[in-house]
Amino acid sequence: MGYDTIHLIKVNTIVRAIRIMLLGLTLWVSFVHAQSEDFDIKKSTHFIIYYKDVPTTYVNKVAREAERYYKSITNYLGFMRFEFWTWDNRCRIYIYSDREEYVKSTGAVAWSRGAVHIQNKEIVTYTMRKEFFDYVLPHEMGHIIFREVVGLNTRLPLWIDEAVALLQEKDRDLYLREAEDMVRSGFYIPISNLSRMNDYSKISPKRFYSEAASIVDFLLEEYSRSDFVDFCRDIRDGKDWQEALLKTYRFDDLKALEEAWVDYLLQ
Ligand SMILES: [Zn+2]
Repeated sequence: MGYDTIHLIKVNTIVRAIRIMLLGLTLWVSFVHAQSEDFDIKKSTHFIIYYKDVPTTYVNKVAREAERYYKSITNYLGFMRFEFWTWDNRCRIYIYSDREEYVKSTGAVAWSRGAVHIQNKEIVTYTMRKEFFDYVLPHEMGHIIFREVVGLNTRLPLWIDEAVALLQEKDRDLYLREAEDMVRSGFYIPISNLSRMNDYSKISPKRFYSEAASIVDFLLEEYSRSDFVDFCRDIRDGKDWQEALLKTYRFDDLKALEEAWVDYLLQ
């Protein structure tokens, strides 16, 4: 699994999600409501799975894996005490029988693997894709869970959202090693520049995602989870992300954070 493939595909997903949001959500909402009557339903503690002509064994696997990720992601981020996905608040996953059906019903481009709507807590995909369990499901759940805690409208640089999501994927260590190589060779992106990169079409996915993941990994591993939760609470409560980050982790500025991160990788 190359870096670029998955993330270039995700760019499309996100562009589509943004377009949907710009349309006032009507498109997505009407799609889901119009469609949901034809679906069979399976419920687990934190998920409602809608599926169409999909083998029960596969649906059960989706439920099992989704619950497993729910536990591991909330644990990993220190969010265990936020019990936010139960009853009517459950995350919804829509599964189509195959790619053709998925593309036809959602209007997604032919090579899209799945779509996420963070605000609605919805993930749409189709069956029999190993990538779904290893990459798409944990990544999109990472996005939804993180945003649930920090707030949907909280302004954040792209690297923070994407880092949290990417760190849930199976190949996270490849990205972390890539970032280490970038630092060792001196070719990393200054964090102040990284923080201005908000346009998916203008980023180099491999470098961007690797460095982003590495910085958040540094914050999670070198400091406590309660620091990370404090940071998330502060930004949820309206504090500017940079101010909250520097205050929580006790850095004077982004340059100081960058130096600490570089030292951590070089030690
Ligand atoms: Zn993402």
